Amino acid sequence: MEGLSKHNPVWDQTRRARAHEQGYVLASDSVLLATDFECANGRNIRQNGPDSFEMDLEPEPGDHRFSGLSYYYCFGVANRGEARRIQVTLHSHMGDVERGIGHGTAHAVVKQGDVWGQLPPDNIRCAGEGTDLELTLDLPPADDPDPVLFISDFHWYPYTEMAQWVASLRDDSRVRVSVAGTSVSGRDLYRLNLGREERDVPTVVMAQTPQPSEAIGTWSCRRIVEFLLSESKTAADMLERLRIVVIPATNPDGTVEGLGVSHPSGRFPFFEGKKTADDEPDALPEMKAVWDVLKQEKPWLFIEWHGNNWKRRSGHMLLRYRPSLMEDPTRRRVWEDIDRRLEALPDTLHGSWTSWDEGMYQESIGFMAVTRLQVIAYMIKHHDKFPLETCTEHALQCFREAVDAGRQRPIR
Ligand SMILES: [Zn+2]
Repeated sequence: MEGLSKHNPVWDQTRRARAHEQGYVLASDSVLLATDFECANGRNIRQNGPDSFEMDLEPEPGDHRFSGLSYYYCFGVANRGEARRIQVTLHSHMGDVERGIGHGTAHAVVKQGDVWGQLPPDNIRCAGEGTDLELTLDLPPADDPDPVLFISDFHWYPYTEMAQWVASLRDDSRVRVSVAGTSVSGRDLYRLNLGREERDVPTVVMAQTPQPSEAIGTWSCRRIVEFLLSESKTAADMLERLRIVVIPATNPDGTVEGLGVSHPSGRFPFFEGKKTADDEPDALPEMKAVWDVLKQEKPWLFIEWHGNNWKRRSGHMLLRYRPSLMEDPTRRRVWEDIDRRLEALPDTLHGSWTSWDEGMYQESIGFMAVTRLQVIAYMIKHHDKFPLETCTEHALQCFREAVDAGRQRPIR
């Protein structure tokens, strides 16, 4: 049964092979619902009334703290007739009902053609025992120029489309495109170098988190690269002074499969920073690629761009490492200055501190960067309830504030 796997001809076809067995496609006379495409999540799609459909969100693989749980969704709907309204119920599996998707999520991202939007709040209801989310969708007619709606709780970004964007940068002599490493399944982890070519200059490294559903991190990387290549005088000044390295996607295998936080091997790469920095033989090549870049470049600043979904978080979250971990006093002061500047940005909230004796991110690659390489590191989580441009502009602001703070007290 043909779903939406070829809606964009460049998309990876991994999920298509499992579409039948997983129930990724439901094609009735009146409507097509599908999750057989790159980045999608949702299975056992079924119809339970003339205008009513449901599906189960897919459990994370493996044996880690999120294995068996599900709370990310991404599906497409194509109407086959006149404009109409349907209900789609999503069933999630969370360890405790408090954190079920119905209780936890209050937004839904809609993509039609190239346009991103959000579903009105009245169209989103908590159902079941808090584990279900019921969405009311107003479908455009089949003869609409863009008749397919894509609904998700995050701003997804197919790896194949990201690779197309990277390919488009190859024409620009200001960007040096290379490959930082290769995923388990053989996909390239692209590395973009901008600014100074010499190594002995102040260097900034940025990467998307390896959590595939936090694809807003890839959009953040892209926005900053676009800024650096714009006509802006500030951007030109940054390229003149700095060496900037961007790894826009760090878990392509998980991305094409539509996973939440996992690698398809069932691992949770985000919490394997220590394993990677310790050079353990089974460290994932994707994580090694990022760590090798950090080790080679010895940047003064590393930002890992994350995403964020929960209703209990009301804005963009700063997950922070303690500046007191920094031995060098100049760098420590710059770091404290960046903290003050980021706290002052709109809709920006403190999330957590991690140090030797507090916080849960001691296994992250950011903590390794701070404690082993004396790098100022941040995890910044953009909330997907905001429009895409709002999130990416906020990412750009964070980047500009941090770089400016570094310029005020020159450090290497
Ligand atoms: Zn994250």
